[in-house]
Formats: sequence, C-alpha cells, structure tokens
Amino acid sequence: MSTFPVTLEAINQRIDALDVTAYAHTRNYLNGSVSRLSPYLSRGVVSLPYVMNRILQRASVNDAQKFIYELCWREYFQRIWFEQGNRIFSDFNNAQQPVKHHQMIKSVADATTGIEAIDQGIQELYSTGYMHNHVRMYVASIVTNVGQVHWHNPSKWMYYHLLDGDLASNSLSWQWVAGTFSSKKYFCNQDNINTYGNTTQRDTFLDQSYEAVMRMNVPEVLQPVISPDLTTILPVVNSPLFDYNLPLLLYNSCNLDPLWRNEEPANRLLILEPSYFNHYPVSANVMDFILSLAYQINGLQIYIGEVNDIPALAAFPEILSKEHPAFRHYPGIKDEPEWLFPSVNRVKGSFTSFWKACEKNLMQKHTP
Ligand SMILES: Cc1cc2nc3c(=O)[nH]c(=O)nc-3n(C[C@H](O)[C@H](O)[C@H](O)COP(=O)(O)OP(=O)(O)OC[C@H]3O[C@@H](n4cnc5c(N)ncnc54)[C@H](O)[C@@H]3O)c2cc1C
Repeated sequence: MSTFPVTLEAINQRIDALDVTAYAHTRNYLNGSVSRLSPYLSRGVVSLPYVMNRILQRASVNDAQKFIYELCWREYFQRIWFEQGNRIFSDFNNAQQPVKHHQMIKSVADATTGIEAIDQGIQELYSTGYMHNHVRMYVASIVTNVGQVHWHNPSKWMYYHLLDGDLASNSLSWQWVAGTFSSKKYFCNQDNINTYGNTTQRDTFLDQSYEAVMRMNVPEVLQPVISPDLTTILPVVNSPLFDYNLPLLLYNSCNLDPLWRNEEPANRLLILEPSYFNHYPVSANVMDFILSLAYQINGLQIYIGEVNDIPALAAFPEILSKEHPAFRHYPGIKDEPEWLFPSVNRVKGSFTSFWKACEKNLMQKHTP
C-alpha cells in the first residue's frame, strides 16, 4: 500500500484506525500516532466535519478532544484566510525581525544541516510528500529565527513539496513560528529534538541552552543560500467533451470530494489554472497525487487553462463550485464551506479564544 492511498475506502480505513488516546499522548513525537489525514483534508477529499463525525461514531468526545482541538487549528487558519484573504501572505500582525535575506538556506534544502532528525524529516518530505508537524516547526524555526531568513520564500519551498500543501495552514504556521502571527518566536534546541525525535545527538549548532540559541549569530552551516527551482509541470490532457444540457461542476486542487453532488448528472471538470500554479507551484509528486485523487471521481475530465477560457462557458445551464478564497474568480454558484463549528464566529482573536468557543459548542452538542 502506498503511503498515501487515494480511494475513499482507504481514507475511511485510515480515519477508523486512528487511536485517539495514543494520538493525544504521542502526537509530538516524530514516531507518534499521528493521523496522516492532512493530504485528504487539504485536497478537499474529506471535510473536517466528515472526519470529526466519523471519529465520534466510535470514540467519546473526551477521548477525541485532543484530536478535535488539532482539527480546529486547521479550521481557524482556513477561516482567517476566508475572512482576511491575501493578507495571510505578508507579515500578519508584526514585521519579522531581524531579517538578513529572502532566499532559502542551502543546507536545509539539501537536508545537510547536520541535525539528524531534521535532515531525515526533510528527506522524508522529498520522498513521501509528508513531514511531521514537529519537524515543520523545527525547520521553520531554524530558517527564520536562527538563520534570520524571511519566512515567505522558504514557506513556498515547503508548500511545493507537501502533499497536504495548504496556503493558510502553511503561511500562518510559518508566521506563527517567525513571530509575525504570534506574540513570540518559536525556538528549539538539540535537547528538545532528541526528546521528540528519539535521537541522542550532541555537539550540533543547536546543542545549547534556549537562551544561547535565541542570542546566537547565524551559524556557518546556515549561511550559504540557494533559490530553489519551484516550477509546476502541468499534465498534458485531451480536450474535455461537454454536454451543454447539464450543469458544469468545477473541481480544483482544494476540492477533490468524490461525494460532492455525486448523485447529480453533470459535467465534472478538474480545472488546473496555470496562473494559480505559477503563483503557488507544486512538485511533480504533488501533481501526481492531485491527479490520482481526481481519477477517483466518476466521469471527471481535466482542463488545463484559465476558468474564463473554458469553451462556451456561458452555454452551461449552471456552473457550480465550492466556495474557496483561492477560487473566488470562478463564475456561478458557490456551495458553502463545511465548517466544524459554523455557529462560532470569533476568529479575529487568538486561537485560544476560538477554541474555547468551539469546545463549548462541542460539549453542548455531544454531552447527553
Ligand atoms: C511550518 C509549518 C507548515 C505547515 N504547513 C502545512 C500545510 O501546508 N498544510 C497543512 O495541512 N498543514 C500544515 N501545517 C500544520 C501541520 O503540521 C499539519 O497539518 C500536520 O502535521 C498534518 O499531519 P497529520 O494529518 O498527521 O496531523 P495530525 O496531528 O494527525 O492532525 C490531524 C489534523 O489536524 C490538523 N492539524 C494538526 N495540526 C495542525 C496545525 N499545527 N495547524 C493546522 N492544522 C493542524 C490537520 O488538518 C491534520 O490533518 C504546517 C505546520 C507548520 C509548523
């Protein structure tokens, strides 16, 4: 079985196999019981409520609470994106400082920082398209806070390789680490990495107290820079054939939901817009994953081009898509997003206040 199978059956099995108790105790460890569901959530194959409700069919709210709390982080970042739009792509609350440059650190891109757990995590990213949350935090911290690089271009490098690449979770997490979305920067040291990475490494540039790491000059190994080549290779496909008596359903790399309006006769079209992928490039691995998920949707055809260049667009009786901040330019009707806690609207404050409101809602709904 591949690391990230693409059938809905396999995804359901993955949800059903998650041990929420083990998750709560081990999620921060690099070999912990994490769900690896993010590629399916980010690509819109399954929604947050779909995952939560399926988990709650067999686990109590108390047992599943830590997992639901993490799902809420995703919802929080998404909702900020929906409300604030492109503001998430620049320093959100505070300017990052100090910043020496806007490039990428060569030893990070080459997985040769000398810190075993991190270099392995970067290799895993290249080979599988997945990186554990704690490694993402370590990498982002080394790049932005120790290497003093502005977060934006390095975040694009990571996004490029992630099967779960999600512009809100990615940009805002990098900003959280770099202190532009949060009140303080996130730092790590070798002791912390050894604890969670199950290593015993010593004498690295991070083998120091937190205070020393926070004050250090940029270590030599983090000084050489590169500009990674981040280009998207779009597939070559046949021109789609349309039935202009039926509605047009637009899918994209963030909506590959096989159950979306699946009973309705329609033209189903995955649209891959070059302008979008020029702006936010993805690797060949990621593109293969997107296409493999798309092939699970009955009758789906693929169109490479801008939405307004779809032949005779005005001739369709209806055009439908799912509402999404990256695709607001689509014409037609937009189905509402599926939130975990649609009645909670406090997203302008901190995550903690958002979570408190969600938790209250969760307990009210699920406590007998
Ligand atoms: C620098 C950095 C970049 C990141 N980039 C992305 C990204 O591009 N796409 C992405 O989906 N996530 C991103 N994350 C968040 C998080 O690392 C991943 O969602 C998580 O590691 C996915 O693995 P999992 O499904 O096994 O997580 P689990 O721990 O099993 O969590 C279950 C689900 O909860 C959500 N979740 C968990 N932790 C977070 C978190 N910290 N922030 C937001 N949602 C979370 C995810 O949807 C995840 O699938 C990033 C985090 C950091 C620190």
